[in-house]
Amino acid sequence: LIASVGRDGPAHRHPPSNPTAAVAVQADGIHKRFGSLEVLKGVSLTAREGDVITLIGSSGSGKSTLLRCINMLEVPDEGRITICGETIAMKTARGRTMPANSRQVDRIRTRLGMVFQNFNLWTHMTILENVIEAPVHVLGVPKGEAIDLARSLLDKVGILGKADCYPVQLSGGQQQRAAIARALAMQPKVMLFDEPTSALDPELVGEVLRVIRQLADEGRTMILVTHEMDFAREVSSKVVFLHQGRIEEEGAPDRVLTNPDSDRVRQFLSRHL
Ligand code: ADP
Ligand code: MG
Repeated sequence: LIASVGRDGPAHRHPPSNPTAAVAVQADGIHKRFGSLEVLKGVSLTAREGDVITLIGSSGSGKSTLLRCINMLEVPDEGRITICGETIAMKTARGRTMPANSRQVDRIRTRLGMVFQNFNLWTHMTILENVIEAPVHVLGVPKGEAIDLARSLLDKVGILGKADCYPVQLSGGQQQRAAIARALAMQPKVMLFDEPTSALDPELVGEVLRVIRQLADEGRTMILVTHEMDFAREVSSKVVFLHQGRIEEEGAPDRVLTNPDSDRVRQFLSRHL
């Protein structure tokens, strides 16, 4: 794999961030503590429309927590999150921080599609039912319309033939592609991926990365946690390296992944490239 990429790299590169594109996600000074452990120590990150931002860093550096703060699965203790122009204010009462407006949280959640490491499909529903569930029950899309969209998305990710199967009947790679179709069915503005291929057998990684690459090529805005460094180099407009809850280094993928300033990034890459 490394040999096929080489120093000059393959022709495939994602365009850099367009500075005039609208801001899709902005995190400002995010702090998050679990008890006495401060997991995020003031992280700021901006994703403009069309950006693919890849978060890398050692296990425990805070990558998942940052994604979870962006979609409010975790409430930051300090900081501000803005999604598509809407800013979530946090309020603190009796030592507990919470979003000031829960409607707003529901609204921003529908703008963010999340794909987890372990697929998280509903096991008692078919693949098609998994994909139509939220559009029908959360967005109120008419069922026939939701089915048409679901079928076109399953076709896009290459598993239309599995529409009536249950998750257990699919390989891990197929389940993850179903999870991607399910997230896309909500027509999110931004897709968040947390190590989408880490739970897969090596031979199934490529089929999932191909789908994500296709989304990147279509200009989708994405924030992605991955340990696939060659993939990160190809699809990212920017790579962000987290270390112990802080951004240690960020920049263009070719620079950060080839010639980082930070020794920590260099050491990380020597273990992952
Ligand atoms: P990464 O995704 O980079 O591996 P995480 O964001 O999952 O890192 O975790 C960062 C740190 O926060 C780790 O030390 C982890 O154990 C801790 N942590 C994450 N979630 C929780 C939680 N819900 N409660 C307590 N500690 C947590
Ligand atoms: Mg993680």
